[in-house]
Amino acid sequence: MNKKEYIEEADNCLLHVYNRFPVIFDYGKGVYLYDELDEKYLDFASGIGVMAFGYGNEDYEAALTTQLKRITHTSNLYYHVPMIEAAQKLTKASGMDKVFFTNSGAEAIEGALKTAKKYAYTKKGPGDYEIIAMENSFHGRTVGSLSVTGTEHYREPFYPLMAGVKFATFNDFGSVLANLSDNTCAIIMETVQGEGGLYPADETFLKKVRELCDEEDILLILDEVQCGMGRTGSMYAFQQYGIKPDVLTTAKALGNGVPIGAFAVTDKVAQSSLEPGDHGTTYGGNPLCTAAVSQVFDMFEDYKLIDHVKEITPYLEQVLDNLVNKYDFITERRGMGLMQGLVLTIPVKEVVSKALLEQHLVVLSAGSDVLRLLPPLVINEQDIDLFKEKIEKVFEQFV
Ligand SMILES: *Cc1c(COP(=O)(O)O)cnc(C)c1O
Repeated sequence: MNKKEYIEEADNCLLHVYNRFPVIFDYGKGVYLYDELDEKYLDFASGIGVMAFGYGNEDYEAALTTQLKRITHTSNLYYHVPMIEAAQKLTKASGMDKVFFTNSGAEAIEGALKTAKKYAYTKKGPGDYEIIAMENSFHGRTVGSLSVTGTEHYREPFYPLMAGVKFATFNDFGSVLANLSDNTCAIIMETVQGEGGLYPADETFLKKVRELCDEEDILLILDEVQCGMGRTGSMYAFQQYGIKPDVLTTAKALGNGVPIGAFAVTDKVAQSSLEPGDHGTTYGGNPLCTAAVSQVFDMFEDYKLIDHVKEITPYLEQVLDNLVNKYDFITERRGMGLMQGLVLTIPVKEVVSKALLEQHLVVLSAGSDVLRLLPPLVINEQDIDLFKEKIEKVFEQFV
């Protein structure tokens, strides 16, 4: 079949929930993707922040191949070494104490929400416990994670969602207080809002929310599914704020391409929340996926990848700031580390499409007006120079 036939066949057999770009990616190497005709694309999206090490990494492939040949699945009724090692490395890197592996980011959120409810139930008894979430947030597409997602057009067709969720304005502590009640069991937010448009939490805001949670004995859930795993210049973004969550969710780059997420809790939370019988998953944390996690953490150390992110970030920021200065239709740069956005007054969807189809540059959008960049964490200065050259060819069309 040729490309046109494949795309027609996709429309025949795949549920139409994505308006996909007419591109068929075939394989990848480093920070480049290749389509079915072997044409090369510079990737500044990394499969939505997943492919931290880029494509075709030999160390990663070797570790997965070894595990693939050994065993891929056992269920969670038994122990296996890859999960134990992955959990050890995740707790060490995050400072959290106990981990539960899931198959996705949304499932990590589900687990976090159940943890918060069970914590309140254990401490205070049965109750209609409430959760404070943030406007403009994104936590996933399952019913629970959608219930705490603060974007109305994702939610509206699916009402009634989970009861007891209140939305506060992100970075507005007064708004959080206004939503607090005797029934509140948790406050959930992204440390850096991703899909909503690259808004980092303010340090004073996050510290005040942390204090409030301590005073009220309610749980702070930080969703680092997108901003975690080195992207902001620390393994987890909260580590730059001098605070720690009670529950952390992580996914996307955690497996560098195999489907895995996790929620992690402190000992304090573990002692008063989920117990045997309360939660489970058939695949979650299977040997193949946790071998990937384990290898990912090793590679972070071997490649000194966090140091690299810290070193390369100012270069990207400078290039982006120069673009902000040069083009009137770019009003602002926002973000942290290699999670950056340019706020545009020209149609962002058109920019993303032209970049992909005309310049072979893969970029993302966020919110309604943000051009979002989530390059593989291994990018170098030449990759950024090439990005600049390609994106300027798109921007010039709007001058
Ligand atoms: C992507 C994302 C999720 C959902 O993860 P899935 O793996 O798509 O279920 C949750 N929270 C944040 C912050 C995300 O960016």
